[in-house]
Amino acid sequence: MTAGGDQIRILEEVAAMVRTCTRCELCRGRTNAVPGEGATNAEIMFIGEAPGYNEDKQGLPFVGAAGKFLNELLESINLDRNSVFITNVVKCRPPGNRDPLPDEIEACYPYLERQIETIDPLVIVTLGRYSMSRWFPNERISRIHGQPKRVGERVIVPMYHPAAALHQGSLRATILADFERLPMYVAKAKEDRDKFDSTPPSANQARLF
Ligand code: URA
Ligand code: SF4
Repeated sequence: MTAGGDQIRILEEVAAMVRTCTRCELCRGRTNAVPGEGATNAEIMFIGEAPGYNEDKQGLPFVGAAGKFLNELLESINLDRNSVFITNVVKCRPPGNRDPLPDEIEACYPYLERQIETIDPLVIVTLGRYSMSRWFPNERISRIHGQPKRVGERVIVPMYHPAAALHQGSLRATILADFERLPMYVAKAKEDRDKFDSTPPSANQARLF
């Protein structure tokens, strides 16, 4: 658990490093890197794929068409966009919006890892297969979407990418239904973590091994 002031400082440091990062080829084509935005103590973190045209222009995540649909999804469950944290597996726009390459995802992972450690969200929602595959390697989104998996004290929920619904209208209802169950998963994750936190340290230790 990182204290509030430290969280803000660390996340700002990560963002500053991302903006000048040259760890992979994607730095060459970017207008603005997109570190991510949102609440530093968010209970839910959304991880998408990569910045697109609008995100690259503005330096902000999910501000184009997919972002508009993500906003609708958040509204559908009364979640304020400012209360969550939103980022991507790669922080710079791939040329022509091509898929990010495995070495680019690996090069960028330390930033994402630091963001996750610092925010320490109860629930991570992966949007699309690139963020899904870190926690669900070799799985298919069509099989596991909307199904939570506990990883340590955190819950990971794989979801379709909002852009998928824009391309394939039939997925719209599926994503909405998966989102509808999200508040329940957050409540359950909170209950479990409260239980864990109120367990004497010796018992917590025992649980770790
Ligand atoms: N798609 C993504 O995966 N991320 C964004 O930030 C925007 C669109
Ligand atoms: Fe650095 Fe990530 Fe941008 Fe690559 S995508 S240059 S690793 S910030």
